[in-house]
Amino acid sequence: MAEEKPAAKPVDKSEEKKKKAPPKKIKYAYQEGKGLAPLNLYLHWCKACNICIAFCPQDVFDPDRDGKPIVARPEKCTQCAICWLHCPDFVITSNYK
Ligand code: SF4
Ligand code: SF4
Repeated sequence: MAEEKPAAKPVDKSEEKKKKAPPKKIKYAYQEGKGLAPLNLYLHWCKACNICIAFCPQDVFDPDRDGKPIVARPEKCTQCAICWLHCPDFVITSNYK
């Protein structure tokens, strides 16, 4: 004997629209003390042109006394790729991409 399935509830689309999705948080690839650092810098190739420091939207880098970048705030890096795509000397690589 086949069981009767309960009738599906009609979906009220106006109610669905009212439920707004919460704003998405930016996912940071690196958390302090967990996993790999976000970036590798091969500073032997760096000519201290300051492009990466100036372009980083998250203010991840600080210059050292020679003007070369230090990853001072790794937890803020979003892996946006701006720094390694603009570095003319291929100093920067990502550990995550
Ligand atoms: S990947 Fe983006 S956020 Fe991370 S250091 Fe480079 S420019 Fe800054
Ligand atoms: S963009 Fe490249 S060469 Fe210029 S300071 Fe940054 S790492 Fe060094």
